[in-house]
Amino acid sequence: MVVSVAATDSDTAQPVQYSTFFASRYVRDPLPRFRMPEQSIPREAAYQIINDELMLDGNPRLNLASFVTTWMEPECDKLIMDSVNKNYVDMDEYPVTTELQNRCVNMIAHLFNAPIKEDETAIGVGTVGSSEAIMLAGLAFKRKWQNKRKEQGKPCDKPNIVTGANVQVCWEKFARYFEVELKEVKLSEGYYVMDPVKAVEMVDENTICVAAILGSTLTGEFEDVKLLNNLLTEKNKETGWDVPIHVDAASGGFIAPFLYPELEWDFRLPLVKSINVSGHKYGLVYPGVGWVIWRSKEDLPEELIFHINYLGTDQPTFTLNFSKGSSQIIAQYYQLIRLGFEGYKNIMQNCMENTAILREGIEATGRFEILSKEAGVPLVAFSLKDSGRYTVFDISEHLRRFGWIVPAYTMPANAEHVAVLRVVIREDFSRSLAERLVSDIVKILHELDAHSAQVLKISSAIAKQQSGDDGVVTKKSVLETEREIFAYWRDQVKKKQTGIC
Ligand SMILES: *Cc1c(COP(=O)(O)O)cnc(C)c1O
Repeated sequence: MVVSVAATDSDTAQPVQYSTFFASRYVRDPLPRFRMPEQSIPREAAYQIINDELMLDGNPRLNLASFVTTWMEPECDKLIMDSVNKNYVDMDEYPVTTELQNRCVNMIAHLFNAPIKEDETAIGVGTVGSSEAIMLAGLAFKRKWQNKRKEQGKPCDKPNIVTGANVQVCWEKFARYFEVELKEVKLSEGYYVMDPVKAVEMVDENTICVAAILGSTLTGEFEDVKLLNNLLTEKNKETGWDVPIHVDAASGGFIAPFLYPELEWDFRLPLVKSINVSGHKYGLVYPGVGWVIWRSKEDLPEELIFHINYLGTDQPTFTLNFSKGSSQIIAQYYQLIRLGFEGYKNIMQNCMENTAILREGIEATGRFEILSKEAGVPLVAFSLKDSGRYTVFDISEHLRRFGWIVPAYTMPANAEHVAVLRVVIREDFSRSLAERLVSDIVKILHELDAHSAQVLKISSAIAKQQSGDDGVVTKKSVLETEREIFAYWRDQVKKKQTGIC
């Protein structure tokens, strides 16, 4: 939408009707970047300026880098907009919103098999995302460990946490912000998750918890929480420690209960004391909501809870920030009751089917090795089999031309030499998009192959000339090489323009 703008001319103070926005002074003047402008501008102008600049952002639906929800039903969009002016922290004023968050906590706790009775209130809280949830869970472990060490008269100044090197960056943040040493189990080529045996070896008396990931960010693979639980139980028995487990189920928490109900990764395992999940990933809500659930009251130290009294009932809160929007909480409740178990299962199954289609298409090129497993979070992570003349980074860059945002990255230690592309399959990534992505990847491979064949030809020509019989490079041959290079680049530019159209 382009608006025409009615405004007052600042020099003459006369009302001026601009016939079109694009000829108005609002877009002719440089945009304010550093200082707040002295004068106001009409709301239509502000809208148009910002809207136009935002057109250059990527298209969220084609952002295959992210697990975070990019589509919801219009009815839910309406609920979100209707509550966009509600501050979640005003529990006294918005008791129903608070109640909806508590219902979400209960439902998610049951989904994760928390040992609670049917009508018992679960222990947990809505957060801004898994990052805040992880900070809270980490703090609870740290405080519990410190309390116990103090009771025993032992030093409590060197807490550590054991994870795989594949942890998401929020764990590193937790470690740095809250002064806990992060002990990472290194990965190796072909094994991209935390090895429970090595993890348990790294546990010592200062370990506040072992964090396992249900759905590694890098490959979508589920770590073996059951094995970890069993090995850690043994170690605890031998040593007299009671090192617990946290499960970072940011993406897998809304996958496993629907697709792999038999998989034991949650509160069915006795050492699992807390679990986080991102409501805005496969919880199917727009960005801004996560959840942390504790096994029981005993696992959340009382001194971390703040009690707010509202309407005569006690509302415990345990969050890092104070004010925040209510919309995401309401939207989460919408999804839980609108979809139900059946709906979530259906969506996750569909994601897995589209993942399989994409995986098969990528495999069929014969050029990639698939690193993601068939069971896990719906994503395809793949590396180039022959990474000689171009890399996954080139492919990622070329995919941008078609509008696709597909990240390429190297694995963490000790598998840094492995570079992968990763496509996350979300609810709104349909089969036709999967097929189109494969055909665009094939196009790019052809282009890059042609490019590298040319470069090879040119460089061998140069090499041959340089090592001529007399060792002298003739002017004529250099000119010829140049001509060939220029012809090649012209050809490339032409191809690129076709790609853009
Ligand atoms: C996304 C993710 C996080 C961070 O979650 P946010 O909800 O974005 O804060 C943490 N751990 C894992 C495994 C993740 O995939």
